[in-house]
Amino acid sequence: MEALTPPARNVTIPQTQKGMQRVQREKKIEYDAIVVGSGASGGWACKRLAEAGLKVALLEAGKPQSDQNFSEHKPAFELKYRNRAAEMIRKTQAVQSVFEVCNEYTSDWFVNDLEEPYTTPKDQPFLWMGRLRVTGGRTNVWGRVSLRFSDWDLQAASHDGFGEDWPLSYKDLEPYYDLVEKYVGVTGMAEGLEHLPDGQFQPAMPLTCQETLVRAFVFQFGFYDGSGRGAHRELHANFERHGSQSDVE
Ligand SMILES: Cc1cc2nc3c(=O)[nH]c(=O)nc-3n(C[C@H](O)[C@H](O)[C@H](O)COP(=O)(O)OP(=O)(O)OC[C@H]3O[C@@H](n4cnc5c(N)ncnc54)[C@H](O)[C@@H]3O)c2cc1C
Repeated sequence: MEALTPPARNVTIPQTQKGMQRVQREKKIEYDAIVVGSGASGGWACKRLAEAGLKVALLEAGKPQSDQNFSEHKPAFELKYRNRAAEMIRKTQAVQSVFEVCNEYTSDWFVNDLEEPYTTPKDQPFLWMGRLRVTGGRTNVWGRVSLRFSDWDLQAASHDGFGEDWPLSYKDLEPYYDLVEKYVGVTGMAEGLEHLPDGQFQPAMPLTCQETLVRAFVFQFGFYDGSGRGAHRELHANFERHGSQSDVE
């Protein structure tokens, strides 16, 4: 698999770096598949296609990510602006920074809202937050809550009349959930909930005494969304607010 950088659109996209290859204009390379975007979807597609023996090109608009860019475990006082740069970040990322995950630790990975604007109908405003421009896409900041869709989600339109039903059922998706969960390592407890299908769980992180009591209480009312279901490492750490470096990515 080869990762290719697109022609630079603005000065924020860095030159080719180690591990990435720039295609020479005159050199013709043929690929079996071209995947656009290196987030969870594109990254997984590349993995599966490459494992199946295809020659895959991955096109990514964002800058290359590296372990050195993660400062998630630094205390704020070690940062240049002590994570008090909200006003400054807002100037170029007015939409992205509404979501506090776009902060001094991570703002460099998000789109510049001035350079990548969007429009919506006047009567349908939409805050398009969480737009990443870096290899790995949103896996760099996601919270690792790893829940499966159920038929209640896939056939939601039949229940509430909004949108369209998906043309597939949970049973169609189940083996693929199994595959991904075994690979990334998802913790959790099998609970037999219809709206939240059980998965291929690694042992769940233990609940505190208070959480155990609350769980028992809300369980009887059905307001329950799974104990500690998440991609394994650092689930309980401060990852989402400051970025989330892990083997999963
Ligand atoms: C802060 C945050 C927390 C989240 N927490 C959770 C959670 O706990 N549990 C959960 O299930 N989900 C969570 N999500 C959602 C989840 O992270 C996303 O649904 C998922 O990562 C999306 O993956 P993707 O590959 O579809 O898209 P993305 O990760 O957005 O990847 C798209 C990639 O394509 C690139 N790209 C875009 N346009 C182009 C172009 N024209 N050419 C080339 N490349 C392009 C981008 O740079 C990016 O790398 C969270 C999201 C955010 C932002």
